[in-house]
Amino acid sequence: MIKEIFYDFFGKARPNAAHHTLAEMERAGFLHSIITQNIDNLHQKAGSKEVYEFHGNSRYLVCESCARAFLAEDSDLSSLPPRCPYCKTVLKPDFVFFGEPIPEDAHAHALNETQNADTFILIGTSGEIMPASSIPYKAKQNNKVIIEINIKPSRYTAAITDVFLEGKATEVAPRLMEAIQ
Ligand SMILES: [Zn+2]
Repeated sequence: MIKEIFYDFFGKARPNAAHHTLAEMERAGFLHSIITQNIDNLHQKAGSKEVYEFHGNSRYLVCESCARAFLAEDSDLSSLPPRCPYCKTVLKPDFVFFGEPIPEDAHAHALNETQNADTFILIGTSGEIMPASSIPYKAKQNNKVIIEINIKPSRYTAAITDVFLEGKATEVAPRLMEAIQ
């Protein structure tokens, strides 16, 4: 099931206009980093460099015995489950499964940004998955400006959002980029 959902289906996904806009903002010096719960690697495919993934990433398969990591696209998934070529342990995708802890570096980086960034742009998040959902509140406590792009108001909108831009990220993000250039 993991192979079908995350590698056969999402593996074919391509970055959209919002992913490309964020990569462009980073190149132009407007964006310092991306904090995401996505595991689909599309920010990196679009060209973003500083991407902090709260839920890991699907691009590697990892061996929990010998700690080696293998690129999923180079791994043979014709016979399942895939096994470590070195120690034969079953390989696990390098994303966070329910009940597993959040990667420490991503969490630490996000907390740093709530101190150092001057603006947070929240894009297409419902704000309901902890602990990532607490990050914008911490930023607001530190007097950061909160811009939200969403198709409808979220639990953030009335609570902490300073500027609400209603619409799809694929349409609003490119307009935001045009406006700040
Ligand atoms: Zn191994």
